[in-house]
Amino acid sequence: MPTTNDISVDKLNFTIGPVQISEHIRNIGAEQVPYFRTSEFSNLMLENERLMKQLSDADEEARVCFITGSGTASMEAVISNCFTPQDNLLIINGGTFGHRFVELAEIYNIPHTSIPIEMGHQLTKEQLFAHDGKCYTALLVNMHETSTGVLYDMDMIADYCRTHSLFLVVDAISSFLCDNISMRHWGISVMIAASQKALACPPGVSMITLSKDAIDRVYKNNIRCMYLNLKLALENANRGQTPFTPAVSILRQLNRRFKDINNAGGVEIEIRRISILANDFRARVKDLPFALFSENMSNALTALTPLNVSAYKIFTTLKDEYNIWVCPNGGTLADKVFRVGHIGDLTIQDNTHLVDALRDMQRRGLL
Ligand SMILES: *Cc1c(COP(=O)(O)O)cnc(C)c1O
Repeated sequence: MPTTNDISVDKLNFTIGPVQISEHIRNIGAEQVPYFRTSEFSNLMLENERLMKQLSDADEEARVCFITGSGTASMEAVISNCFTPQDNLLIINGGTFGHRFVELAEIYNIPHTSIPIEMGHQLTKEQLFAHDGKCYTALLVNMHETSTGVLYDMDMIADYCRTHSLFLVVDAISSFLCDNISMRHWGISVMIAASQKALACPPGVSMITLSKDAIDRVYKNNIRCMYLNLKLALENANRGQTPFTPAVSILRQLNRRFKDINNAGGVEIEIRRISILANDFRARVKDLPFALFSENMSNALTALTPLNVSAYKIFTTLKDEYNIWVCPNGGTLADKVFRVGHIGDLTIQDNTHLVDALRDMQRRGLL
């Protein structure tokens, strides 16, 4: 018998990760875990690398490291492997994830300047160009700042980096497969993604796609770390292997997911699928007592500010009385903002279910 301590798994999940996983991908996770020092697993990993490069529009020379660890492990690996105290970073800091890059730069003693952005707002051209790019060696941005929903203007950022010859690091963890990304077009040196967002696999694997200039930085750097040493990861990846036991099942699930996306028509089709869900939801809540919290939202999520009640209370009521998860915010935004994700195995019917629940709460005087 379930007890009250059992973590519930029967809810309709509109969070931003981990998200709903389709049945055939879940079934792979139920299979026995194969031994991995084999040519069969190497071939799967070489295919994963090829497909990941294709989906991020990386050039031929780019390489991909599959890290066993959530997205933050890859953020940390990038800071520690690509930079030294001789660097000087410019960090776009518009929320929780921008702040995480600042914290990592502090931990690793990398000189840096944070550009604070008011939460929910765009980075403006004035804010960016107020910094003399010549003093800096790199710019770090979370393309979609997931804590607020803001999708930054990547054309402007890429242009600034090109003009000032800055090494561009993009945390695309919540924008990969949700919004258009091209490493080639934007001259991105490092792109980070993770298994539990739009890739809709279990949490535990993150991916670092490195361009040629990033690979050179990794090889020049002498880092004192074993598990997140990207030189080791790259050398092992040459033969389709990882230095240590990876999350084998998740890598098999990712392989299937990459192929599914390609078979359905590629990354543009997946982005369109998610944008249709996002636009449908936004249209249907227009007359509910919410304001949109952010400018220029990613397709990945809708951040809403309730006009009359606590946002956190909406999260708990949906969870406890309607069996639906949305994403609460933390800190100063806890009562002000909640977020509805549009990624994972969701449909228009699921949107209907959520909107019906919100309308019912309105009838009950809870909105
Ligand atoms: C989810 C997310 C991360 C990674 O968080 P983990 O909990 O370590 O997986 C990093 N950056 C962004 C923008 C994210 O959305």
